[in-house]
Parts: sequence; structure tokens; C-alpha cells
Amino acid sequence: MKCRICDNFFYSETSFEDIFRFPSICEKCSLKYTINHYEETLPISNGTVTSHYIYNDIRMNAKQKDELKSNLESIWIKMIEKHDNKAIYLFMDDYLYETFESWFPFLKPFNNIHFMSLLRYDFDGFMNFF
Ligand SMILES: [Zn+2]
Repeated sequence: MKCRICDNFFYSETSFEDIFRFPSICEKCSLKYTINHYEETLPISNGTVTSHYIYNDIRMNAKQKDELKSNLESIWIKMIEKHDNKAIYLFMDDYLYETFESWFPFLKPFNNIHFMSLLRYDFDGFMNFF
């Protein structure tokens, strides 16, 4: 089989349990891309900005990000459990990060801002906006 993430071919033992359900990700990628939940909170003048992300210190190409984006569901479920009526929850990606300056002023009325993403985005450079 061919791994959806690294495009390498891999062999997988089949049993009666998974005879019609083939693995789509190799064992190496399964270990490398284990879902973790990282959280960083920055204080701002009227509240906090919290960044939630799954993978730390991993570089990914667009195809790998696309294959793994369904893992964002785990963060979304945690956000639903924590639900705060006064907060705003946004998915962050490369495009939103690059255009941050143009749309961030619209978030200023919110006291608590939560960004959810696959990878860690550095907000230190944007501290003058908060
Ligand atoms: Zn792989």
C-alpha cells in the first residue's frame, strides 16, 4: 500500500479484523503524526489570545496538511467542551496567518480569542496588535 502522507510504499499484515479496512498511513507516519494538543496563552490588554495546535516542530507540505486536517476535530471537540460565550474560536492556516494584520482589528471587541491549527504559529511578532 502507498502511504497517503509520505507517499512511500509499506506492507501491512492483514487479519480477519481488518481484511476490508486497509491502513492508509504507514506505521512511521502514524507515530510521527500522533495527535497531541498544545496550548499557548498570551495575555492581551482586554483578555487572552490562546493558540491551540496539534503538531509542534514538524514541517509539512500542502498535501500532508490536507491529509491531516481532519485531526483538527480533536481540538474542536475540546473547544466545544470548554465553550465560552464571550470568546471567539477560529481555525488558523497559512493564508490567515499571512493576512493577520488586515483582519485582526475585527477581533478586538472579543476578550478571549482562540486560534486552532495543525501547526504552531508564532504570535510574538503580532504583539503590537493585541
Ligand atoms: Zn508514511
